[in-house]
Amino acid sequence: MPNRTNDLNAWDRDHFFHPSTHMALHARGESPRRMMQGGEGCYITDSEGRRSLDAFAGLYCVNVGYGRTEIADAIAKQAHELAYYHAYVGHGTEASITLARMIVERAPAHMSRVYFGLSGSDANETNIKLIWYYNNVLGRPEKKKIISRWRGYHGSGVMTGSLTGLALFHSHFDLPRAPVLHTEAPYFFRRADRNQSEEQFSAHCAEKLEEMILAEGPDTIAAFIGEPILGTGGIVPPPKGYWAAIQAVLKKYDILLVADEVVTGFGRLGSMFGSTHYGMEPDLITIAKGLTSAYAPLSGSIVSQRVWDVLVQGSDAFGPIGHGWTYSAHPICAAAGVANLALIDEMGLVKNAGETGAYFNKALKDALSGHRNVGEVRGDGLMAAVEFVEDRDDRRFFDPSSKVGPTIASALLEEGVIGRAMPQGDILGFAPPLCLTPKEAETVVAATLKAVKRVLG
Ligand code: PMP
Repeated sequence: MPNRTNDLNAWDRDHFFHPSTHMALHARGESPRRMMQGGEGCYITDSEGRRSLDAFAGLYCVNVGYGRTEIADAIAKQAHELAYYHAYVGHGTEASITLARMIVERAPAHMSRVYFGLSGSDANETNIKLIWYYNNVLGRPEKKKIISRWRGYHGSGVMTGSLTGLALFHSHFDLPRAPVLHTEAPYFFRRADRNQSEEQFSAHCAEKLEEMILAEGPDTIAAFIGEPILGTGGIVPPPKGYWAAIQAVLKKYDILLVADEVVTGFGRLGSMFGSTHYGMEPDLITIAKGLTSAYAPLSGSIVSQRVWDVLVQGSDAFGPIGHGWTYSAHPICAAAGVANLALIDEMGLVKNAGETGAYFNKALKDALSGHRNVGEVRGDGLMAAVEFVEDRDDRRFFDPSSKVGPTIASALLEEGVIGRAMPQGDILGFAPPLCLTPKEAETVVAATLKAVKRVLG
């Protein structure tokens, strides 16, 4: 009798081109592989029956937790009723129209419309095109450059990969390859001048931004894009006063602000949106992951009234907007979104993210910040990170070849918990489902402490 698992392992090795994977090691069967099979709440199980507490919610996206039948049922119902129709030239479905309404109701007050896509990357592509269109409508054809931050993450496409400020996503792909500039990351722990307070460092970041704008010419800068809290770049909350200082500069030069809330949208920080959490007033907001809790792929660009008013003038002048995806507002994904947002409310998950998040962050800090190789434990809501250093006093990095971060993540997995070795630096990240209980938070902290002790003593 053929062995199904052996077949699947061979097919995986020979035919499946995995994202963000060491291709050669995978093809030779030398890197870890895992076939996932089921999940419930914060736990996920694999084909060998191994159960893990997923403290990264997939890729910070399974916000309501695994196995929610309410969403599965909504998807099935929509698939039976009408699996697909496009959203071009004014078409919609009850699910997509209802979802647009639910998003705007939850978004900051000055937001007006939602353009649907399928991934965080394509939503950011949409944002950039809308910003270029906006400046064309306003007769400012030179105002097109976009400023993002080093360590920001905005996607993996040509434009969005360029916006991303992490070397791994640029090197060997000839990126950045777009009118994109990168300014200083608001990374207080790694600031050059250690005498600076958080407020002083925020002022320094705003000064660097202003210098860049003046050097390039304010008439050439269209927008600034940033995650409310840096995510993939290391889970770094903004230093005190950062967004106020940055926004003052943007206002001065009439530069739009895009809040990339792919990770923070719909509750992760204990507020419905990260923008309101940190006092940002964005012109556009990117949403994805938490919109459907990843039960189906769906993203959106939320457009403010101010931007919308200009875009509409464009239509009157130029005709229908020449930008669309086949699967924009896909009915099945929209039905998943409606059920997901309702479930977030019913389960009180935004409040839980704030409360259990505070408990989790404190417990992680108490357990780990005394360790001689822990440089910083930081986070907000249900996002947290532990940054490891060879030497605490001078914040010296470990030699990258020693792979401390990935080794600790592997040890943690053996303890039954999934964390994520963040891609740049020895940083262990956490972003569990928003339904995490205090007891599960304790399990994550205890397992992390054990894993760190196993690897670093
Ligand atoms: N923006 C942010 C802040 C993200 O974290 C991500 C994905 N991790 C993206 C955009 C891109 O989303 P996607 O992978 O769905 O294209």
